[in-house]
Amino acid sequence: MTQEQLNEIKEITAEFGCKIQPVKGAHRTIYALLGEEREKIMINRILGLDYIDRFDAIDSPYKLMDIHSELKNHKIVLGGHIVGESPFIVAGQCTIDPKNPNYFIETAHAVKEAGAKAIRGGVWKPRTMPYSFQGDDASIKTLVEAREQTGLPIDTEVMDEHQLEVALEAEVDILQIGTRNALNYSLLKKIGQRNAHSSTSVLLKRTRTMGPVSELIAAAEYIAAGGNPNVILCPRGTIPTMEGYRNHPDESITPLLKEKTWAPIIVDPSHSVGRAKYVAGASLAAIAYGADGLIIESHVDPKRGIGDDPKQALTPEELTKLIKNINLIWESTRIDNKVPA
Ligand code: PEP
Ligand code: MN
Repeated sequence: MTQEQLNEIKEITAEFGCKIQPVKGAHRTIYALLGEEREKIMINRILGLDYIDRFDAIDSPYKLMDIHSELKNHKIVLGGHIVGESPFIVAGQCTIDPKNPNYFIETAHAVKEAGAKAIRGGVWKPRTMPYSFQGDDASIKTLVEAREQTGLPIDTEVMDEHQLEVALEAEVDILQIGTRNALNYSLLKKIGQRNAHSSTSVLLKRTRTMGPVSELIAAAEYIAAGGNPNVILCPRGTIPTMEGYRNHPDESITPLLKEKTWAPIIVDPSHSVGRAKYVAGASLAAIAYGADGLIIESHVDPKRGIGDDPKQALTPEELTKLIKNINLIWESTRIDNKVPA
């Protein structure tokens, strides 16, 4: 579409209080209409333009994230892998320790060796107490160094606009929105806008208090409507109901999400169960439920880690064994790469 044609459409939609949001894919661009898009007169005027090929009115409240939307064949590519074609494992430390950055670099090499396809590392941390270690801007350099040395994409959580800008400057591949910000709509909008038309992905966690699956998909819609459809959904456990687990494991919502959205699902078993000894079982269950991947905390020496690492992190040996078993469950549960309903 030419700029003049786009302007003509924008003028028409503006009369009806609607906005046009381009969502650029690898092969074509979709122009999503935001606002009261069912206005008959407006639709007829748009359809009357000779360069208009199609106008789809989508019934679902998720115009972009719905399984039947125009983006239904959209693929998220990270480090040369299409997420969902094989188990996509993100692994690494909960927190990068600025006093011991070498642990992080060693962990990055070890998780790559174990079979991980991306590296996670918390530069900034959401902590319950304001006196606990909150993270350090300087650790972004350690994260980038890990990518340079291993060639794997990197993931880190951002909680505010300053952190977002630092992460964008470093060209972080996966921006993580944690459980505490999963319903922070202004941040979700901002992330979508600042990454519009880029290949950066967003790993959106489910909030601890998240009710129906629709709430998680609606939160993803904010990011996509901002201009970036590369959203991965991440169940990570909800308010704990069972003594012993840090949260209530929720990998079982994976098939429910898959019925409603095309978005890939990467489950976080580490925060869900919160203990290294339960992580393997939760991981295999998630893969059997149809998850496209997992984000797993791992550390070369968990007891020397900070943040969640002493409790939750797997050693590289444990991770290596787990990834082998993940591949077995994947192979035995997929037909044509899909889990049978
Ligand atoms: C994390 O990934 O280390 C983290 C803080 O996750 P969540 O937002 O799920 O608690
Ligand atoms: Mn953690």
